[in-house]
Amino acid sequence: MDKKNVRDVDVSGKRVLVRVDFNVPINNGVVTDDSRIRAALPTIEYLINQGAKVILMSHLGRPKGPEDKYRLDPVAQELTDLLGKEVEKADEVVGPKVKEAVDKMKPGDVLLLENLRFNEGEKKNDPEFAKELASLADIYVDDAFGASHRAHASVAGVARYIPAVAGFLLEKEVDTLTSTLENPKRPFIAILGGSKVSDKIGVIDKLLDIVDALLIGGGMCFTFLKAQGYSIGKSLLEEDKIDYCRETIKKAEGKDISLYLPADVVIAQEISPDAEARVVLVDSIPDGWMGLDIGPDTIAVYRGVINSARTIFWNGPMGVFEIDQFSRGTEEVALAVAQSGATSIVGGGDSIAALKKFQLEDRVSFISTGGGASLELIEGKKLPGVEALLDKKDP
Ligand code: ADP
Ligand code: MG
Repeated sequence: MDKKNVRDVDVSGKRVLVRVDFNVPINNGVVTDDSRIRAALPTIEYLINQGAKVILMSHLGRPKGPEDKYRLDPVAQELTDLLGKEVEKADEVVGPKVKEAVDKMKPGDVLLLENLRFNEGEKKNDPEFAKELASLADIYVDDAFGASHRAHASVAGVARYIPAVAGFLLEKEVDTLTSTLENPKRPFIAILGGSKVSDKIGVIDKLLDIVDALLIGGGMCFTFLKAQGYSIGKSLLEEDKIDYCRETIKKAEGKDISLYLPADVVIAQEISPDAEARVVLVDSIPDGWMGLDIGPDTIAVYRGVINSARTIFWNGPMGVFEIDQFSRGTEEVALAVAQSGATSIVGGGDSIAALKKFQLEDRVSFISTGGGASLELIEGKKLPGVEALLDKKDP
């Protein structure tokens, strides 16, 4: 990445404001999955060791103003445990009390601000709010890749007022994604699933320029199957994307990319753990039934392709993996990716949740924490959070 990182600036004794992504699941006041907090530890620990005053800020959920259940206290507790060091927690985002807390900080101290979204200036990228945040510190560090596609005050706004550099996590996410896409070992395959074609159009278009094969599953495969003339019962369909799917199939042919669609699927009449499920070929989906997973023949074919790949990008589950009887396609594909020996990148909130469910998250090369951000990066879009940082060549 051609942006400065925390090592490129002198942070010792400085007040350093770090945007992290601590948007973690919380249940009864306890963080139930701390992977996002752990992912930010290298930057935080580096800053502590350099004697910086570390001021952390994050959003959590979608509060409408200050709401107690969205306070970051459980996060401060979890971080205290992980660091083995007391983390001070502010009960406000900005204001005189926060200023006072910052003034009291000593080198190596860590302070966590309250949920950024308690302040309506955050999402609006209000310059006054950004300026107030910036006034708390001497240097800004962005380590929230998952938020970097949003032009929010804490992401792109603050960078206008104080020197802004990348944290290690942000840098690694951007570097891994870009280098893999620019210079993949071949065969390079992409596995796409999840609910909607429309969510992933930019990514599909971009992938068609760089992959050797595309495996499609999940809810989105039914619009493709419809485009090929199959009856899909009441499976997920995006009527207005049928033409797009038809063109994509043609484009892939023209570029000599193998585009795989399921040959068989698991169907049911309802999305429920108790629904009767059947396996049928894709030309035999009855009216009133819907496809909820890829079938065993498809799994076998997909496994073969995955096995021969040397680079894999995967986004989107192959079926409704949340329900056991529709989870086999996603589990088998995840296992195949894990066993392939290929460089594998997995992105997308639900895809990562699926990897965790099958306890395979340590078996892929790289989990991209930023769902929307990684897709936008792959599409070739500029991320506001990254653009706002100092260039390596800047003084
Ligand atoms: P990600 O978060 O990994 O990008 P998406 O949000 O696009 O993935 O899609 C995930 C959702 O798609 C899951 O909740 C899953 O249940 C759903 N899904 C997968 N296959 C189907 C299907 N055949 N019909 C309906 N929903 C599906
Ligand atoms: Mg999702």
